[in-house]
Amino acid sequence: MKVWRLNPSDTQLEGTQIFSDVCEALTDGKLVAIPTETVYGLAADATNGKACAGIYKAKGRPSFNPLIAHVDGLEAAQTHAFFDERALKLAEAFWPGPLTLVLPKRLTSPVSDLAVAGLETIALRVPRSEVMRALCKSTGRPLAAPSANLSGRISGTTAQDVIDDLGEHLSYLIDSGATPVGVESTIVSLIGERPTLLRPGGLAREEIEAVLGEPLVRGGTNDSAPISPGMLTSHYAPNAHIRLNATDVAAGEALITFGTSLPEGADRAARLVSLSDSEDLSEAAARLFTALREADLGKNGKIAVMPVPHYGLGEAINDRLARAAAPRD
Ligand code: AMP
Ligand code: MG
Repeated sequence: MKVWRLNPSDTQLEGTQIFSDVCEALTDGKLVAIPTETVYGLAADATNGKACAGIYKAKGRPSFNPLIAHVDGLEAAQTHAFFDERALKLAEAFWPGPLTLVLPKRLTSPVSDLAVAGLETIALRVPRSEVMRALCKSTGRPLAAPSANLSGRISGTTAQDVIDDLGEHLSYLIDSGATPVGVESTIVSLIGERPTLLRPGGLAREEIEAVLGEPLVRGGTNDSAPISPGMLTSHYAPNAHIRLNATDVAAGEALITFGTSLPEGADRAARLVSLSDSEDLSEAAARLFTALREADLGKNGKIAVMPVPHYGLGEAINDRLARAAAPRD
């Protein structure tokens, strides 16, 4: 890991060697810790599923919470999501700043399925942090960046916090001292009829309500339970029935494979969809949501999923598969 010490007097970021090195690391799919006004972010190219898998792996998250995609301005944000009048008002009032908006994702957005955890919505933020915005702009990539801490630990607000938790996973750490706000961004969902406060944070509810001209409904979210578990279950569930740890295949089932030694009857499968031929859990994580969609042959369809090991990212993969397979009405 290389450390880039950034001073408040460093106004010229673009064009410096270190800046282009960090851009290159990000476009190569590497992880970079970047200070924002809220907390340090563990950033990766949000369009690169494997890079996003690296975020989950480094944090040791036992499940795939959707990640916030950071962009350099409203115009970029609008290429990823549909903004209604409320969203535009909030973006104009509070961006750049500690406000994250959850909006309907455009099908044309290149943000990876893993970054949004298979959802049809996307969480977007334009941070105040100059360096984060400059990196988004120069790489031309939205940057997925959850707080730079191990899962279950408090968010990193100094470079030392980040080194202690994640140093070994980083290609660069941009050290600008302690982050000014120190708490995460406020998350507002504009998916439903009523604007919903998913997570209180660095921007006060009252300020948001004053701009919206209506109260925010409180919706539950925290790092371990992103929306309500019920909502998540239905979001993640394909139409087809899912059977886990399959060691055989019935005629007409779609088979999601892991590795190349296929179970008995694999030749009978209606469709084969690979998570990773080389049994690489990062690749499998990056492919998971896309694979579920590709294997989904509709309401009467059946999906058999080969066993995926439970270590490393396998824990989160198995958690998500179990949710997708859970009984529902
Ligand atoms: P962190 O990046 O660690 O600050 O956490 C990001 C938070 O944003 C998590 O609690 C996520 O559940 C939430 N989030 C991200 N994307 C979405 C989404 N599409 N819908 C609802 N919540 C989201
Ligand atoms: Mg966090």
